[in-house]
Amino acid sequence: MIKENSIGDNDRLLTLFTRDSGVIRAFAVGAKSIKSRRGSATGLLSYSNFLLEKKGDTYKVIEATANKVFFGAGCDVVTLTVAQYFCELCAYFEPHDDSAEPFLRLVLNSLYFLIDKKRDPALIKAITELRICCISGYAPSLVACDGCGKFEDKTMYFKLDDGMLFCEDCKKDNCVKLSRTVLDAMRHIVFSDINNLYAFNIPEKDAKALEKITEKYIVFQSEHRFSTLDFYHSVN
Ligand SMILES: [Zn+2]
Repeated sequence: MIKENSIGDNDRLLTLFTRDSGVIRAFAVGAKSIKSRRGSATGLLSYSNFLLEKKGDTYKVIEATANKVFFGAGCDVVTLTVAQYFCELCAYFEPHDDSAEPFLRLVLNSLYFLIDKKRDPALIKAITELRICCISGYAPSLVACDGCGKFEDKTMYFKLDDGMLFCEDCKKDNCVKLSRTVLDAMRHIVFSDINNLYAFNIPEKDAKALEKITEKYIVFQSEHRFSTLDFYHSVN
């Protein structure tokens, strides 16, 4: 469940990210009632099994069972904000067809890593942003310099508007500098198998640079201002 809107005192319109149908909207009647068995299954950031009835373009929740409720009381505000940002990214990109399953898998994995707390939320955010771009058709071209084909240089340059890579000799205007470490990290995020996606080390200084670049890239590519991202910067 990635978004909810209250309707009246008891009912809600839920935005659900489903494995089979991508992002859909479903009405939950009475789900706000404390007595409702559906309560936790229809909470924000819960991962649940839903039995739905289709009515025209919308769905009605018949039954819901929670598999996992990701964030309870006591969760720190930065972690919770990053999780809500992931929900906003899902709702914005509305993955469907072939991209729904990898997108859902990525976001669930990222949420698990967030609650696990072994990795910095800012790094999980960076990994998720860049990988979402790849799944959603905005994969950057990081194999080699777009001008001359050079694979590596002491410093490489990344063009945010078209995701192209350039070497020192071929660089264009409006490029950001990439250290070897940051480029390696970006290549890892773009090309690695999902099972190894989070398994790399990066020094803090380079992680900060990576985080700036992935955020700028997803904002640039989506041409969208994410309200949870503004909130993230106000608390972090
Ligand atoms: Zn070049």
